[in-house]
Amino acid sequence: MSQWDIVVAGAGHNSLLTAAYAARAGFKVLVLEGSPRIGGDTTCEELTLPGFIHDPCATAHNLIQSNPLMRNDELHLDRYGLRYLAPDPVFTMPFRDGRSITMWRDLDRTGAELARFSTADAEAYRQLLVDWQAMAPIVNEERENPPRPPQEVAARTRAGAMGDRMLAIRRATALDVITERFQDEHVRAFFAWIAFMTLHPLDEPETGLLAFSLVAGRQRFSWILPEGGSIRLPLALARIIEENGGTILTEKPVTRIVVEGGRATGVVTVDGSAYRATRAVVSSIHIRHLPGIVGEENLPAEYRAGIARWQPSLTMFASHYALSEAPRFLTESEPLESVTMGGMESLASLHRMLSAFRSGQLDLDDPVLLAITPTVIDPTRAPAGKHTFKLISFLPYELAEGPKRWDQLKDEVAARLFDQVARLTTNLSERIVLGRYINSPLDLERRNPANWRGSCHGGASSPQQSGYFRPVEGWSSYRTPVAALYQTGACTHPGGSVSGLPGRNCASVLLSDLGSSLEDAIHPRAAVP
Ligand SMILES: Cc1cc2nc3c(=O)[nH]c(=O)nc-3n(C[C@H](O)[C@H](O)[C@H](O)COP(=O)(O)OP(=O)(O)OC[C@H]3O[C@@H](n4cnc5c(N)ncnc54)[C@H](O)[C@@H]3O)c2cc1C
Repeated sequence: MSQWDIVVAGAGHNSLLTAAYAARAGFKVLVLEGSPRIGGDTTCEELTLPGFIHDPCATAHNLIQSNPLMRNDELHLDRYGLRYLAPDPVFTMPFRDGRSITMWRDLDRTGAELARFSTADAEAYRQLLVDWQAMAPIVNEERENPPRPPQEVAARTRAGAMGDRMLAIRRATALDVITERFQDEHVRAFFAWIAFMTLHPLDEPETGLLAFSLVAGRQRFSWILPEGGSIRLPLALARIIEENGGTILTEKPVTRIVVEGGRATGVVTVDGSAYRATRAVVSSIHIRHLPGIVGEENLPAEYRAGIARWQPSLTMFASHYALSEAPRFLTESEPLESVTMGGMESLASLHRMLSAFRSGQLDLDDPVLLAITPTVIDPTRAPAGKHTFKLISFLPYELAEGPKRWDQLKDEVAARLFDQVARLTTNLSERIVLGRYINSPLDLERRNPANWRGSCHGGASSPQQSGYFRPVEGWSSYRTPVAALYQTGACTHPGGSVSGLPGRNCASVLLSDLGSSLEDAIHPRAAVP
């Protein structure tokens, strides 16, 4: 049996980040990934045709930009091949009535777009960004540390620059914030669409801050994406792990976490191989799968009950195309090639989508859409002059006839969504399609067991599953009830998306428990304590 200081189950960007910090701090690290390639939801594949590099899941790496990892350049990821591209325009939003709003990197230019609808709304946008500046330090500090109990969060919020006003925003729905601050229906749809991009139902309480954070993040960082594809982030992290003596093995699904005397001491993979961990095991296995792998008998009843209550988030339907030319989106000035396009006709469309979702219905007449053509800014992802195109919509995993029904429906659904987006362009049609690949919410679960029930953010970020309650109340510190077993990934604070925060926060707790620190990883010293 091989022996390591730390064995990590899963090679998504979060657990790779935990492993990279640990390896740099001097620990001997082994990462075991179940699938044939690393990266989880930040991987790349030639899904359609050779030479067309698609992001099957994430493309935008926005939230990770404000992680201290990037903000302070802690691991020098650029030296390991990671380079970010910031598109301009940030995104464009054509409406079916011929109107359009485009967000540009230049704030004045975005303001001018909004002022065509309402000068008051253009001013309200500037005020929203100013208010976010006042709230961001509190929110960022919360996200970059293990969560505090709700009373402490409320007290610290009140003590901030906006005082009780920020508390009210936190508790509000994002839709209330948007309708209070903006008057024009197109402008409201524009901001609601951005605020929806982490898939939180915006009509639910405690979503108010999304109307600020996601909007300000896009204005600041654009629809930022890694040159060469999403996998460049995990590849850079893998190189750091290997350079520091670590090993990464793929096609090694972990089927058992070994617990001896209440302590995690290693793992067993599906092929029967056993790997001993002398200091810790780190899991990014989905929290719903954890009891079966760690053994129900090793988890206290209240922890198991918390896991049993876990709910999925809204889910996505992703179609990928190889195109002979980039889509040109209709705008009020001229047709625009844009890496990102948003589709949401009005707030009523969002309500309609959420209501269909909650009843397991497919409503394709007025869908909310996200279209991404990374090759508009990154030609390395396709043969010369050609393009990769991803079309996302937000459709339920649970259909009335059960999720398996997706296998019969998905081609027809993809065609309907393609037609809907084609209406918003001058040139998108079958004529320019060279290849296609469709992933229903069920396929997204099949591709990555961490996408439990199609949920690509670990699970819902409802108040019951956020902060101090994620994944289970009392266990939000990345530790678990099993000694030496740590949990990271989208099921832990602050949740899904490419933020790297669950990974870095977990590293901080793990290293401190092992007598080391993030500081030791950032400025490595010679010996492990
Ligand atoms: C279609 C789609 C589009 C998205 N778009 C964006 C976007 O543009 N921007 C954004 O910020 N977010 C996006 N997301 C969400 C984001 O990609 C994820 O929330 C995030 O990547 C999760 O990262 P993670 O490290 O927590 O886990 P994951 O990336 O899910 O990685 C977990 C890894 O663990 C492995 N694993 C699981 N169980 C085992 C086991 N038993 N043994 C061994 N290995 C195991 C899995 O195979 C996987 O590789 C998208 C998601 C999807 C599905």
